[in-house]
Amino acid sequence: MNRRSFAQSVGGAVALSALGRSSSVWNKSSSDSTPGKIMAITAHPGDGLFTMGAALAQQIERGGAGTLMCLSLGERGAPKDIPVQQYGEMQRTATQKATHLLGAEAKFLAYPDAEIPFNEESSLAVCDAIREYKPDVVVTHWSGSWHKDHQNCHLIVRDAVFYAGLGTMARSHPAHSVSKIFYAENWEDASNFLADTYIDIEAAAYEKWLQACDFYPMWRGQTGFFRYNDYYSALSVMRGCLSGCKHAVALMSDPSQRISRPRSL
Ligand SMILES: [Zn+2]
Repeated sequence: MNRRSFAQSVGGAVALSALGRSSSVWNKSSSDSTPGKIMAITAHPGDGLFTMGAALAQQIERGGAGTLMCLSLGERGAPKDIPVQQYGEMQRTATQKATHLLGAEAKFLAYPDAEIPFNEESSLAVCDAIREYKPDVVVTHWSGSWHKDHQNCHLIVRDAVFYAGLGTMARSHPAHSVSKIFYAENWEDASNFLADTYIDIEAAAYEKWLQACDFYPMWRGQTGFFRYNDYYSALSVMRGCLSGCKHAVALMSDPSQRISRPRSL
C-alpha cells in the first residue's frame, strides 16, 4: 500500500465524492454511489452550515439535492448589543441566503435555543419533516457533545428516522425509509467522535460553502471568542490531507451501517 492509498483508507475509513443511495439504515446497506438527497438536521443554524454545509454543497454540485432543517434559530448566541429575538431573525435570514447559495432548501422548527426538548412531540415533528422531504441520507449531530441541544438533536433524529420508516405509524405523509445516517464533525461534539467517511469537497463546492458560512456573524468571530472560520477551514484541509484530496469533510457512520456481509474476505 503506497502513501496515497494509506491516506485514502485511514483507519478503515472510506473516501467518497458524494453520499449515495442504498437500502434502509435499519436494514442491510449497499455501495450504490448515485448522489442522493441529504437532509442535514441541526440544533442551531451555525452548526448546520459550518459542519454539514460542505457535504450539502458537494452533494448538490454532484447532482444530488439537499435540505437543511434547524430545530432552533440559535438565538441565544446573540452578542450583547443585539436583542435575542432580533439575532434569531438574523440567523434565519443568514440561513435562507446560505441555503439559497448552495441550492438547498431551508426548513425551521420553532424550538427555543437551549431548550430543545427530546420527547415524542419533537421526534414526531422531525419524523413528519423526513416523510415530507424524503431524504436518502440524514446528517446530524454526534451524541458526544457538551451541549444539551446537540445531544437532544441526536436523540430526536434517531427516533425520527425510526418513526419515519415505520409503515404502521399513520401520520399526514406516508412512511419513508432513510438509507443512511451520518454524524458531523463539530468541535462541540468531539467526545468519542470517530471519523470513518471522508467526502472530497471539490473546488466549486468548497468556495460556495465558504461564501455560505460568511453570511453568519459567528463565522467571522463577531459573536464570541471561537474562531469558527479558522477552525472549520483548517479542519477541511486536515481531513483533505488524510483522505488524499485538497479539502474534505469527515463524517461518522451510524454504528448500524458498519456491518458488512461479504460472501468471502
Ligand atoms: Zn450549536
